[in-house]
Order: sequence, then structure tokens, then C-alpha cells
Amino acid sequence: MFDSLIIFMIGRKFKNLIEIWHQLFITMIDGLKIPLIEIKLRCPACGSWMVGPNGTRKRRYGRVEAFICKNPECKNEGRKTPKQFIATSSYEFKKLVRSKLKQLYEDILKDGAKNKTIAKKYNVSPSEISALRTEIETTIEKHQTLDSLVDVPQPDKAIAIDETFLRIEGKKVYIIVATGYTTRKVLGIKVSFTRSEHDMRAVYDEAERNTTHLITAVISDAWTSTIAMVKSLGREITHVIHKHKKPYDKVVIKHYKYTNTERVTTDIGVKTDVMERRAMRQGYHMETRTPLDALAPKKRGRPRGSKTKKKTKRSNKKKRRGRKGLFKVFDKGKKFFFKIDPYRKTVRTSNNLPVSVAAALAEVLNLFALKSIQNNVSENLNSVVKSLLRLRGPKTVESVERRIRAFLIVRNIPEILDEIQIDRNVRGKFFIDNINSLEFSNLVNGMWIV
Ligand SMILES: [Zn+2]
Repeated sequence: MFDSLIIFMIGRKFKNLIEIWHQLFITMIDGLKIPLIEIKLRCPACGSWMVGPNGTRKRRYGRVEAFICKNPECKNEGRKTPKQFIATSSYEFKKLVRSKLKQLYEDILKDGAKNKTIAKKYNVSPSEISALRTEIETTIEKHQTLDSLVDVPQPDKAIAIDETFLRIEGKKVYIIVATGYTTRKVLGIKVSFTRSEHDMRAVYDEAERNTTHLITAVISDAWTSTIAMVKSLGREITHVIHKHKKPYDKVVIKHYKYTNTERVTTDIGVKTDVMERRAMRQGYHMETRTPLDALAPKKRGRPRGSKTKKKTKRSNKKKRRGRKGLFKVFDKGKKFFFKIDPYRKTVRTSNNLPVSVAAALAEVLNLFALKSIQNNVSENLNSVVKSLLRLRGPKTVESVERRIRAFLIVRNIPEILDEIQIDRNVRGKFFIDNINSLEFSNLVNGMWIV
């Protein structure tokens, strides 16, 4: 347990004030006190070094030295008196606790049901682990509604959409995520029994609410609902589709733009490695024009008269009609050549090529210069989400989504953990057992990185 015994001042002047170093001791069972670290004290409200002694405060285990902020700029949450604090509520301490809790929180989610394992790792009881988790979750709920995944809109213009699944009582449940391509922050999420066009659109819309710009490119796998969703957005957008099945080395880029009367779809088929180095490469392209009045929703059910229609026997001769669906462009499209320079991020095409082909390639090059074109932004996240399968407690679509959102918010905005009451967490053995000597030295030298 911490016990603050001595404060000693070091005569280094700091803007007319003295930096206060505080010595922390650990008390052994036999009463022996061992000096542990010295920390430079900073105000927990403003982070200033300008602090001074402020008498003592009574605690359960005796009296401790108290301090007061002397920074004239310190706001102290609008109170009239300057911020007063003790060593364990100082700035550096809070930072350390925050990083510990973040680590612990990620562990709790990753290990799921293995509560005992985590308890063992941190040398605390399983009930303390569950108390800490409750505290973190309460803080997140209090601080920010679980609706906003980020505190401020992000600069991403491209998003990657991915789905993964888990089972809730034997039923397959999809987790759909949109990740910002630049920031790698999760900007949209939905947990649903289906992964319909509607579900995909909900995730897309949430992601776009969380970005400063309109989204101009979507990267995804070849799931038909995602393709349909991007297609029906009704505005100019580029869709990079990399199928998670054979052929792995091919990618299809769809570019949609609109005239007053038509939707113009440009399909481009290229190998996944075309952006990796400076070279002359080949691709295929084709253009489809759809009148906008033909885009009205189709009638449901079978076409009139189709049931009574005479069935025609399929001829066996008509094989090798070429690929259908996504990869059709590789068979039906026109072959073309283009020159890629991933260092200068330039694409050169021949003059007779439609402008949208060059424009779409340039946009993709911006994202994938020197890299292979694929959809692997959220792979890491998928494994985290998968581990939620082992979550304890009642599982519903709503509770799973809440849990994932809470986790993502901590990931996106770690500062949120500042709100957690320190005193409670310092109590018990948790804190002292979980800081190693290296971390102590970092703390002392001010190199702590959260
Ligand atoms: Zn202050």
C-alpha cells in the first residue's frame, strides 16, 4: 500500500515556483518501509508543475501530504478555489492508471469468460475484475452516449466495410463495421441477424456522420448487399471490391456517376498488385448506362405468366459463355494499358480511354500506392470481435452491440478513462501489483506514453 512519508523539495527554480518531487513508499507486512519512486507532481486539473504544499489530509491508513495548484491559468472546473490534491490523484498518477485500465479493459474483452485468468495476471480477485469492468462501462455510458464512436468527426474520405459473425444461442449474428481508411478508427457498426442492403446502409450512414468530408471511396469484399448499397447511394463514388475467395489476385473497381437521366457505371478489372511498383500494366474496362427511371424498385414475386410458361430445355452446347457477375469485366470488358508510378502517385492512360477510368484508378492509387489492393483494414478488429463470442451474461443483439461499442469507444477515445475515480482503483492491490520497475522509471523520467 502506498504511504506518503516525506516530501522533499528540490531547489530547481521553475517560474518562481518549486517543482515538488514526491517520494512514494511501499509498506511491507512487517512494517518495513521501502522507498519506491519519486514522482514529480503535476496538477491533475491543468497538468501544471506549479504546485505547492497544502497541509495534510486524513486517510484510512494515516495522514498524507496534500498539494495545491499554483498555476494562475488553472480552471479547476470553474471552482473559485485552486485545485487541491494528494499524490495518488496527481496528473502523472492518473495517466498511469488510465493506461493500466485501458490494458486491463482490452484484456477483459479479449479473454471473455476467462475472468480467472485475468484476475491471475493482474494479481487481483475475479470480483475486483468484474467491479473494475462495471466501473469502466458506467463511465463510458455517463461520459458519452454509446451512439457516438468518435468525439470529433474524422478526416477519412475512404472507408472499409467488413462483416464478421458470432453466434448467440446458436443463431448467427452479423457484426458489420466501417473503418476509416486513414485513421483506422471504427466509424460505424451494426449488430444484426441479417446483413441486408439496409444494414449495410445504416453502417455507411453512421460512418459518414463521423467524417468531416463526404466519403468518396468504399473498400469491401464481394458481399452482394454491400455492392447493392454502394450502387444505390445515388452519387458519385468509387467502390473497390476484393473478394475473399478465388481468384484472390483480381480486384474489381466500380465507379458510379450520374447525369440528369442516367447512372453511368464504369467497371475496371485489374490484378491486385498493379499499384505495387512503377510499371506499365493492363486492365479491362466497361461502361454500363442505366436510365434513372429504370431504377425504381422491382415488383416482388415471380413475373406474370412465368409459371405457365413453357420450359425450354437448356442446350448443352452453350458452355463457355464467359464469366457472370462481378468478374464479367475481365471477359466482356475492353483491354487497356496504363502506366503507374506509385512514388509520384500518377496514372497515365491512353487518350481514348473514358475519363472515369483514369479518375477511378487515380483515386485507388491514392489509397494503395506501393501496396496490394485488398480489404484488410478490419482484419485485426475481426479477431477482437470474434473473441466477444465468449462473453458472459445474457446475450442479445443489443447487449452485444453495446459491449462492442463500449470497447470501440475506449479504442477510439482512450482519454475517456480519465473520468474514472482514481481512489477506488488505487485501493486494493491492483495498482501496486501492476506497475513494473521499468514503468516506474518511465514515470519518474516523464517518458510515460499512454
Ligand atoms: Zn491546476
